[in-house]
Amino acid sequence: MQLEDSVKTVKGVGDKMMTLLEKLNIFTVRDLIRHYPTDYDNFEMPVQINSVSEGQIVTVEGAVSRVTTRPTARKKVITCYVSDPSGALKLVWFNQQYLLKLLKPGYRFLFRGTVKRDNADYAVTQPKMYQRQEYAKLLGCLQPKYGLTKGITSAFLSKAVKQVFTEIKIEENLPAAFRKENNLMKLSDAIKTIHFPKNMNEALEARRRLVFDEFLDFILALRALKTKKEEAVNNFVISDYSACDRLVGELPFKLTNAQEKAFNDIKKDMSSERLMSRMVEGDVGSGKTVIAMLSVLAAVQAGYQAAVMVPTEVLAKQHFADFEEKLNKYNVRTIILVGSMTSAQKKKAYEKMAKHEADVVIGTHALIQEGLQFDNLALAVIDEQHRFGVNQRKALKDKGLHPHVLSMSATPIPRSLSLILYGDMDLSVINEMPAERKPIKNAVVDTGYRPTALNFIRKEVISGHQAYIICPLVEESEDSDGENVIDYTDNVKDFFALSAIKNGDGKLIRTEYLHGRMKASEKNEIMERFAAGEIDVLISTTVIEVGVNVKNATVMMIENSERFGLAQLHQLRGRVGRGAAQSYCIFMKGSESKEIDDRLDILKNNNDGFKVAEEDLRLRGPGDLFGVRQSGELSWKLADIYADAPLLSLASEYAGIVSDQG
Ligand code: ADP
Ligand code: MG
Repeated sequence: MQLEDSVKTVKGVGDKMMTLLEKLNIFTVRDLIRHYPTDYDNFEMPVQINSVSEGQIVTVEGAVSRVTTRPTARKKVITCYVSDPSGALKLVWFNQQYLLKLLKPGYRFLFRGTVKRDNADYAVTQPKMYQRQEYAKLLGCLQPKYGLTKGITSAFLSKAVKQVFTEIKIEENLPAAFRKENNLMKLSDAIKTIHFPKNMNEALEARRRLVFDEFLDFILALRALKTKKEEAVNNFVISDYSACDRLVGELPFKLTNAQEKAFNDIKKDMSSERLMSRMVEGDVGSGKTVIAMLSVLAAVQAGYQAAVMVPTEVLAKQHFADFEEKLNKYNVRTIILVGSMTSAQKKKAYEKMAKHEADVVIGTHALIQEGLQFDNLALAVIDEQHRFGVNQRKALKDKGLHPHVLSMSATPIPRSLSLILYGDMDLSVINEMPAERKPIKNAVVDTGYRPTALNFIRKEVISGHQAYIICPLVEESEDSDGENVIDYTDNVKDFFALSAIKNGDGKLIRTEYLHGRMKASEKNEIMERFAAGEIDVLISTTVIEVGVNVKNATVMMIENSERFGLAQLHQLRGRVGRGAAQSYCIFMKGSESKEIDDRLDILKNNNDGFKVAEEDLRLRGPGDLFGVRQSGELSWKLADIYADAPLLSLASEYAGIVSDQG
């Protein structure tokens, strides 16, 4: 077995499973063993039923009694009680009718799940069931929990991973002396251990090694991306910015000082003898797009072509519309190129760029496909650059004869870290928000506040605004009791319909949902309708997180806020507060703890992404890294730029040694 082999070569993985694994982006054996646990389950001895308390994950053992089942509109519900000598505890399952065969009065099982309040008492919803011997095997070890999709369980994944380890050899890439000196595990041990650690310390040790490798790969690839010194001659000297000055004068707003400074940096670069390689870093909503637009305009005025690569089709369309609207009168011919276009449409786009019948192409990954050739590409803009792999960025750049490269990122990274991470890229920071913006008003609330929040959203809609509601899940899941987009949308529609009757105003709130498993064309349609104001409330997973700009949206409500990384929550919040109206962000907590409150308070008290990152780091201890990660940010599986800064330095140092030798 080789790492590059299809996962199908793993025993137990058939065609059906393969299709499911692909949903998790697992295609090869390598992908499988790099699908790291997101957390571990620690199986402990069963506890007495009268000792359980709210919020705990517990295992109880006892006899089943009072089994009842009833259908509701959307769910088939089973309830029963489990009793031990100390008391009885209510158990509830949804849509798991097959359990009825096992749940016979008097039968004994172990049940494991999270304790919740149930009126005056406690209950466990969706508990897992075990026979005694089965549970004994799990006791006392950490069991990996993985990111899952319907039809795949953590048990299945861990079995498949174990199977791979019996058949594969993983090559070491670091010299023993360096590993020893820096306390880095062997790579093969690290990968095994992160799946099956004996204890949390071991897991953290393994993680440390893997984080080092993630940083090292990133840095080495970035260095490969850098144009060699002798090649960095500027073949596209751009010195006329008169059209840009005119465009600036026509904008409906005045550029902030920080925007002006960033664009001045760019002008200096593009008119100099050396190629531009610049990163523009600015918090969400700080106005990076207009900087890209000005740079593109300058390139086109000088007779060259430009490309703008963005991570999603929705964003591509939005930028395309924006560029067309503002640049048409400067005779800039803009086209779009995205994956969902037909091959005939793509061919036409290729032709236009190759023959220079168009000046600017805006698109997704589709830009780096083979068919696209340029006449004279002078500028490659990479928006939300952290969303792209280094190879993708390089592929775009290689489309031209050493074009200027302008990268844009909303990931707030302290300057010292940016310098290590981006090496010798030049950096412009937009550290200022447009003056007209009112700071977003934040609230952290529990689910009891949900009706109030929905009524508030309804009021905002009636006064002409729009809202987003984010849920962590797409559909109901056996492994998680987080809110899901599909059921939530049904409930919210019911809620709004009832409110219209109660208030006697008959107001229709147009509510739709959006999630990552929808077809690209469906997603685009929903996003476009939301942008056009034809949808009032959009209920979505985090797919809307990146870059989308609907100025009229004034409320962001995030269900199960405790499940997201702070940086991700900050990005989500950045979808509102983009216009002059007062905006609101409601962080809804799905469970209670001091830790959750502390974390969410950081967001409540800070609207600045750099501050959020700083405070977050201060709060988290090193042992906390398997908890909620900064997911959705820079493209690593494990590494966290803030918390792992020392490893980043170490990787950078080592990369220096390797490239000097190479
Ligand atoms: P981001 O930095 O997140 O990419 P955008 O470029 O999408 O932000 O800008 C967010 C919104 O702010 C857009 O609607 C844009 O037109 C507007 N905007 C940009 N610069 C300014 C400014 N100086 N003053 C007022 N509004 C601005
Ligand atoms: Mg943007």
